[in-house]
Amino acid sequence: MRIDMTGEPGDPRRPNEDYVSAALPSSGEGGALVLLDGVTPPRGGTGCVHGVPWFTARLGGSLLQLATAQRDLTLDACLAEAISSTAAAHGSICDLSHSRTPQATVVAVRWNEERVEHLVLSDSALLVEAPGGSVTEVLDTRLDRLPEHVRTLRDQVRALPEGSPERGAARDEYVGAVEALRNAPGGTGFYTAAADPGVASLAVTGSTPRADVRALLALSDGAARWSQTFRHGDWAALLAFVRKEGTAALIAAVREAERADPHGTAHPRGKRHDDASAVFAELGGPEPVGT
Ligand SMILES: [Zn+2]
Repeated sequence: MRIDMTGEPGDPRRPNEDYVSAALPSSGEGGALVLLDGVTPPRGGTGCVHGVPWFTARLGGSLLQLATAQRDLTLDACLAEAISSTAAAHGSICDLSHSRTPQATVVAVRWNEERVEHLVLSDSALLVEAPGGSVTEVLDTRLDRLPEHVRTLRDQVRALPEGSPERGAARDEYVGAVEALRNAPGGTGFYTAAADPGVASLAVTGSTPRADVRALLALSDGAARWSQTFRHGDWAALLAFVRKEGTAALIAAVREAERADPHGTAHPRGKRHDDASAVFAELGGPEPVGT
C-alpha cells in the first residue's frame, strides 16, 4: 500500500482551499481517502464568520474519521453526518441558509479486502485503475450539463482579456448565473457539500470488487487541468504520469503550463492558477500490462 499526496494553493499569498487526507487503519487491508475543493466565494458576504479552510478542515476531517471508524455507514451516510456536524460547529452566529455559506466538492474512497467504495460530488475527479491498466473515471457531470445560457456566459468571460473591466463585469454575471444553480431545489443545477446533509444522497456513488482495483487517483479540478485544460494526455496518461513521477510532479507540470499561457489565450480557464491537489493510492496487485 502506498499513498502519495500533494496540495498547493493557486496563489502562495492565499490559503489553500483544497483539502486532502488519507488513512490506513491498523486492522486489515483497509484504508480511505478524502479530497475536497472549497468553493471560493465571490465578492460580497457569506453569512459566515468562518473561512473556507475552516470549513474544509472540519468537513474533511469528520468525513475521513467517519469513513474509517464507522464502516457500517455508507459513504453517503458518512458525508451527511459530516455535513451535519460541521454545520453544528459553525454555531448560531452564522447564517447557514446563505447561498454563499462555505461549501466544497467531495471525493471519498474507502476500501477493505473485498470492496472499494467511492463517492464523488461536483467537479473533483476520481480515477480507478484496474489490474490490467485500464482507467475508469468517476465524475459528477452535472456541471458539464449547465444550461446553454450559462455555458455561453462562461465562454464570453474566457474570451475577454484577463484583468479588463469587461471581463470583470462578464465574470460577475456568469458567477451570479452559476450561483443560482448551485444547490438549487428541483434537480436542475449542481450540488456541493455545504450545510444541508440532504445533498449527500445526490452524490455519484458506487463500489467495485477490490480485486478489480489496482490504484486510485483523486484530483481537484486545479490538478485535473493537466488533462482537461492543457490536454497533456487522457486520464490513463495522467494516472501513468503520477505513478511514475508522483503527485508533486503533476502539480508542477500544471503550474509550468499555466505560466506558459498566463492569459489563458491558448488554454481558456477561469483563473490563471487554481488550488491544486491530488492523492494517489496504490492498492497493490499485479503490475499493469505494458509498464
Ligand atoms: Zn460559520
